[in-house]
Amino acid sequence: MEHAYLDASILKCPYCGKLYVDASWYTLDMESDLECGVCGGSFNSHRNLIKRVLLKFSIYDEDLEVEVEKFIE
Ligand SMILES: [Zn+2]
Repeated sequence: MEHAYLDASILKCPYCGKLYVDASWYTLDMESDLECGVCGGSFNSHRNLIKRVLLKFSIYDEDLEVEVEKFIE
């Protein structure tokens, strides 16, 4: 069993409420503006962060399991 981790951010479009998940290095470090795929609104990823989580990927041969390892403040 091998483990790999992804620091991920859950974001919410401030115009229509659509939820997105993106890598935290992209949303927090770059503070990029994103365009919502549903309503077309443009919003700042950092200011619309709902929660930051550490996802744990457990990989064993062909099997893949993904779980939330922890919530990051
Ligand atoms: Zn939207």
